[in-house]
Amino acid sequence: MNQDILEEKILVDKSVLKEWKEWARKGDMRVKGYRIIEAPRGDRIDRIKRARFMIVERPHGVVYQHSFGLISKFYEGIVEGKLYGTKCPKCGLVYLPPRAHCWNPKCKLQETEWIEMPLEGVVVTYTIMAFAATPFLSELPFILAYVKVGDSVTALPIQLKKIDPVDVHIGLKVKIKFKENRVGDLMDLYAVPAEKPHPPPRSKEEIEWLKSELARVEEWVRKRFPEKFKK
Ligand SMILES: [Zn+2]
Repeated sequence: MNQDILEEKILVDKSVLKEWKEWARKGDMRVKGYRIIEAPRGDRIDRIKRARFMIVERPHGVVYQHSFGLISKFYEGIVEGKLYGTKCPKCGLVYLPPRAHCWNPKCKLQETEWIEMPLEGVVVTYTIMAFAATPFLSELPFILAYVKVGDSVTALPIQLKKIDPVDVHIGLKVKIKFKENRVGDLMDLYAVPAEKPHPPPRSKEEIEWLKSELARVEEWVRKRFPEKFKK
């Protein structure tokens, strides 16, 4: 057997791991600084005393590495500014997000083929995010839409921009856009309306309620990320 087939070869290297390894070598988990504080101690509210405590600081960083496996081409496509889906050669179902194998039971996990997808779709469902994972907190409130792109039978989760949350609706036609600096992350993509929104009639109370809820979230973000609002 030709042993080359078992070898792993690096074709493109945009890894930042070396930097992080160096950083970790210099002091990962080593004590870098400390504070001494005074704080309450005690087992009951009527027996509380004050005590001195020492708090040490140990910087610690983590880089997760994981493979996108057989759907790697989708993420490479994002870097290139192209949207790739998969299509089953047996039944013709199209998937975006891509599936490496067809989920139609009749196809018995047939391996799919890559196709380039149009950069347009329709909102299948959506939510207005009032809370999110740490990296996205400062962007709140934002709209997370599930968009059916082209003939896909699956829907792509994507941030919908350039629209008043009050105007978003199911069935809205959208365009898929790419951010400028891309690293192969789903967040490199976003959607914008491709038509004038035509939301179903909403009562004045409904709209006012939504606006007041959005204002509460915006106020929280302003407090939590004051630097974002400094000029
Ligand atoms: Zn199929």
